[in-house]
Amino acid sequence: MRTWVITAGILAALAAPAAGHTVNTDNLNVRSGPGTTYSIVGTLTRGTMVNVVGTSGTWSKIDGPKTGWVSTQYLTASSHSATVNASSVNVRSGPGTGYSIVGTLSNGTMVTRAYTSGDWTKITSPKTGWVSSQYLSVGGTSTGTSDFIWPMTGQLIGVWDSQRASGPHHAIDIGDKIGIPIYAARGGTLSRRDNPTGYGYYVSVTHEAGYRTVYAHLSAYVAPNGAVAKGQYIAKCGDSGNAKGTQPHVHWEIWRYDAKVYMPGTVWSRVTAKTAYPYNYSGI
Ligand SMILES: [Zn+2]
Repeated sequence: MRTWVITAGILAALAAPAAGHTVNTDNLNVRSGPGTTYSIVGTLTRGTMVNVVGTSGTWSKIDGPKTGWVSTQYLTASSHSATVNASSVNVRSGPGTGYSIVGTLSNGTMVTRAYTSGDWTKITSPKTGWVSSQYLSVGGTSTGTSDFIWPMTGQLIGVWDSQRASGPHHAIDIGDKIGIPIYAARGGTLSRRDNPTGYGYYVSVTHEAGYRTVYAHLSAYVAPNGAVAKGQYIAKCGDSGNAKGTQPHVHWEIWRYDAKVYMPGTVWSRVTAKTAYPYNYSGI
């Protein structure tokens, strides 16, 4: 009887939903076993969501989008849940428009993500199949436990390491129209700034543990200098500074002490203001 109870407990633990995982390094080797002595069977690029099905020491076993083992240190927790952000989104049998349509999803439907392949996301509920990632807003609507929230609703027109004449782009650009509200991604202390040849009108918000967020190319300030709450309306989207002539957007950066820190995001995907930014930052 005791043996039966222990076995049932292990089965329950395996069946419990776990956090999603996203690759946090440029090229992650997938190996045939849990160690660097095993052969490389593939690589994964930064931002790819993987499905972890088991662990051994410091290694994680994955079954999507590739099958094998990866070093757990190169995975960051991410959200399994996402919301459909367009009407009548096709679910397909594979990751591309060449695959057959197996169903459709309406705007606002909550889905469960398993893993990603290129610009496509494999979902497991309410239907099983593949959806173009641009039609999914990741993170649901809960802001309770996320480190940061998306500061504006719009489309990601620039992401981490987008090609720029001026060098690597270590920021996220969320594009929409002039005047769209921008919200504080986390509570802190706001200061208004101006750099006419670069960021244009911008604000900087300092947070705990050495973190700071920057919101650039504003058309107007809204919150005064001083304390702001997470989700507080702080400024309006614009194209000031060196964004003149581009689509209006907020150029959003996260800093820790004197360095910009990595920010995930899928180019051309749509995001919703005040929903959870799906990344865990150390120290907060
Ligand atoms: Zn930018």
